[in-house]
Amino acid sequence: MVKKTIGYVELEWPCPRCQTRNPGANKFCNGCGGPQPEDVAFEQPLQEKLISDAAKLAQAKAGPDVHCAFCSGRSSAGAKFCGSCGADLSSAKARQKGRVIGAHRSAPVPDVACPACGTPNPAEARQCKQCSAPLPGAAPAAAAQQPPAKPRSRGALIPLVIVGGLCLLGGLILMLLAGRTQDRVAQVQSVAWERQVEVMGLVPVEREDWADQIPSDADLGSCREELRQTVDSPQPGALEVCGTPYTLDSGSGFGEVVQDCVYEVYDDYCKYSVLDWTVVDTSVLRGGDLRPIWPAPSLSGQERLGDQSQSFQVTLGGDGETYTYTPDSESEFAQFVIGSHWVVAVNSFGAVAGVEPAD
Ligand SMILES: [Zn+2]
Ligand SMILES: [Zn+2]
Ligand SMILES: [Zn+2]
Repeated sequence: MVKKTIGYVELEWPCPRCQTRNPGANKFCNGCGGPQPEDVAFEQPLQEKLISDAAKLAQAKAGPDVHCAFCSGRSSAGAKFCGSCGADLSSAKARQKGRVIGAHRSAPVPDVACPACGTPNPAEARQCKQCSAPLPGAAPAAAAQQPPAKPRSRGALIPLVIVGGLCLLGGLILMLLAGRTQDRVAQVQSVAWERQVEVMGLVPVEREDWADQIPSDADLGSCREELRQTVDSPQPGALEVCGTPYTLDSGSGFGEVVQDCVYEVYDDYCKYSVLDWTVVDTSVLRGGDLRPIWPAPSLSGQERLGDQSQSFQVTLGGDGETYTYTPDSESEFAQFVIGSHWVVAVNSFGAVAGVEPAD
């Protein structure tokens, strides 16, 4: 992120003795002549106007003013002796610099009509220029009142805990039921196997990527500009995106108006077509015996075999019930000779939990 300076504006300080609002550059109050105390901060005027006057600009950039260690009077940065008491300023204390005062107030402020005679006066005036009647004056802008955030209710948490507990209990019961088994003797009635082999072909596939990431042998399609990354520093061709301008206290009675900027880098994002190995067919063989075989599809020049998979199923029957068992491997499957006897462990849901030879 880059902090860009838009310009400088003159700030104000309110006199704690007579409430006069003084131009930031003034070291003494226009109303009562008193010096600006060290603890009276600079504030934003109702409208901040960017300074174009060269002498004022130099003052604004000179660095924070200092306060005399003896009389606390304010002097410009670089001054050797106190403007109030003449003391040596080598041990003087510099004012705070860099504090964010607020969003830059660039909008013009409408005149305010005098409640006594109706004459329009500048919004910051405290006295009517026509009849000298007191005006509302430059009251500091009141911060927008936010309703206090409602604390989040804990009530919603209790039903959740109850539901969670019930789910846990239900899960435990299910596990117990599934774990409780009964042994039944059954006979192998039928067996089945299925084997699949994928056929891969080198075919054109549509893809999208940044222009510089596309393989050189690809067929380039249409492109569009898209945001590729956001960076902190300016780059050739990047789009500058800046936030709302705001004012920083320079400590000299002036404010520095800045905005934080980032840089969006756009690039070509393109469609392209490239040859890639893709599943173009699946060859399947099924059988009802104990001798499974793999499909052997015939391949063309631009094809090869891909992934293969298999599954086995055994149907056992006994006591008028039928059970289905799925062996994991071909060697296990091979033991289920039609008519052979097995001890089947059946759980509370009627599912087969395991089988053992009944010798
Ligand atoms: Zn004053
Ligand atoms: Zn002094
Ligand atoms: Zn008036």
